[in-house]
Amino acid sequence: MAQQFDYIVLGAGSGGIASANRAAMRGAKVLLIEAEHLGGTCVNVGCVPKKVMWFGAQVAEAIKLYGPDYGFDTTLNRFDWGKLIANREAYIERIHGGYNRGLDANGVTLVRGFGRFVDNKTVEVNGEHYTAPHILIATGGRPTIPAIPGAEHGIDSNGFFALTEQPKRVAVIGAGYIAVELAGVLHSLGSETHLLVRKHAPLRNFDPMITGTLSKLMAEEGPTLHTQSIPKELVKEEDGSLTLHLENGTSLNIDCLIWAIGREPATDKINLEAAGVEADNRGYIPVDEYQNTNVEGIYTVGDIMAGGIELTPVAVKAGRALSERLFGGQPEAKMDYALVPTVVFSHPPIGTIGLTEPQAQAEYGESNVKVYTSSFAAMYTAVTAHRQATEMKLVCVGPEEKIVGLHGIGFGMDEILQGFAVAIKMGATKADFDATVALHPTSAEEFVTMR
Ligand code: NDP
Repeated sequence: MAQQFDYIVLGAGSGGIASANRAAMRGAKVLLIEAEHLGGTCVNVGCVPKKVMWFGAQVAEAIKLYGPDYGFDTTLNRFDWGKLIANREAYIERIHGGYNRGLDANGVTLVRGFGRFVDNKTVEVNGEHYTAPHILIATGGRPTIPAIPGAEHGIDSNGFFALTEQPKRVAVIGAGYIAVELAGVLHSLGSETHLLVRKHAPLRNFDPMITGTLSKLMAEEGPTLHTQSIPKELVKEEDGSLTLHLENGTSLNIDCLIWAIGREPATDKINLEAAGVEADNRGYIPVDEYQNTNVEGIYTVGDIMAGGIELTPVAVKAGRALSERLFGGQPEAKMDYALVPTVVFSHPPIGTIGLTEPQAQAEYGESNVKVYTSSFAAMYTAVTAHRQATEMKLVCVGPEEKIVGLHGIGFGMDEILQGFAVAIKMGATKADFDATVALHPTSAEEFVTMR
C-alpha cells in the first residue's frame, strides 16, 4: 500500500526544502525525499562552503596585501587549511541542524533514500511507495567532466570541497562562476593557481567592462590566466603529479586539476519515463511560467529546469511561489525570472543585474542606449601600495533613461548590489538614482553620482 501525501518533493536542496516547508506551513501533508545531505549543492558543495573559503581568502589578502600599509607588522607563520575546512564543515553541520528543526517544526516528513517515479502519482524510495496528487522534482545538478583521456585524474567542485590538504600547484579549467571563484580562492590562499579558459576570457558573457577588468586584474594580481587553452589529455605522472596537455601543443605540470566547465541536471536516474515527464536531450525539464511540466501535477524548480537560472535564491523563490499557488490560496503565484541580480565571488567581487551594454544596444538600438561609467581605485586600497581597480556601469535606455542594467566589479560589490536591485526591479531611472543622496565615502555612492 502506498502512503498518501498531498505533496511529494524529490530532492532536499534549496528549492525543494523551501517549497516543502512553505507547503506544510499552508497545511499540506508533505513528504520530502533526499538521498544525501540536506541543503543540496548550495549548502554542502556550493555557495556556503565557497563563501567561507572566499572569506578565508579575504583574510589572507588583508594580511598579505593590505595589512603592512595599514601599519601592521605581522609575521605569517603558516596557513592551516585543515583548520579552515574543519570550521567550515562544523558550520555546515549547524545549518543541517537548522534545516532538520525547521522541517520538524513545519511537520514535513523526511525520508532518506533515492526516490524514483513509479507512475505520475507515485514515487518509490527504499522499496516503499508514496503517492500524492502533486509532485515537485527538485533534484538539482552535478558537475560535468569532459570526455578527454585521463579526465578522471582531475576533480570537480565536489572534489575541491573534499580536499583535506591545500594543493601546491593547481589548474582550474573553465570560464564560468565556479572556475573564477575557485581559482581566486586558491590563489589568494597561497596555491600556485592557473585558470585555463578555452576562449579569450573568463565570464565572457558578462558586460565587456566586467570581462575586461577581471582579466586585467588577474594579469596584475593572479591567478595566472591562460586563454585559448583547450585541454587535450591529462596524464598522471609517476611522482603523482599531473600533466595537462593542451590542444595548442603546450602543457602544464600541476598537483591538482579542477574541472569547472559547467553542470548537468540530475534527472537521469529518477525514472522520469514512468511518470511521462519530458526532458530535453541534455536532461533539463521544460516547464511553463507556473513551473508545470508536461504532466499535470508534476512540477520542477531549480537547476534542472530548462531555460532556468541556476541560482539558489531563484530556486527558493520559485519553490515557495509554487507552494503558495498549490496550497496557499494564491492561484496566480509564480516566480518572476526577469531582472535577477547575481554576484560572482571573484577577487574583487562582481555584481550585475539586467542587460549588458551590447544586449541593451541589440534590444533597444544603439542610439537609445546611454551608458554611465565610473572607474577608480577602491578607497580600502588608497593608502596601500597595492591598489585595486573598481569599475562600475549603468546602462540606461530611452529619453527617461530607465536603468536596464547595472554592473560593477570592485571591493564590496557583493554587498552593494542588493539595494540597487530593488530600485531597478521597481523601474528606477537615472534621475531617481541622481535624486538619492550619496553615502560618503563609499564605493556604492558612485552609482548615484555618475555624470
Ligand atoms: P557555467 O556554465 O557558468 O560556466 C562554465 C563555462 O566553462 C562555460 O560557460 C564555458 O565557457 C566553459 N566550458 C564549457 N565547456 C568547456 C570545456 N569542455 N572546456 C573548457 N571550458 C569549457 O558553469 P559553472 O559550473 O561555473 O556554474 C554553474 C552555474 O552555477 C552558474 O552558471 C551559476 O548560475 C551557478 N553558480 C553561481 C554562483 C554564484 O551565484 N556566485 C557560484 C557558482 C555557481 P566558455 O564558453 O567561455 O569557454
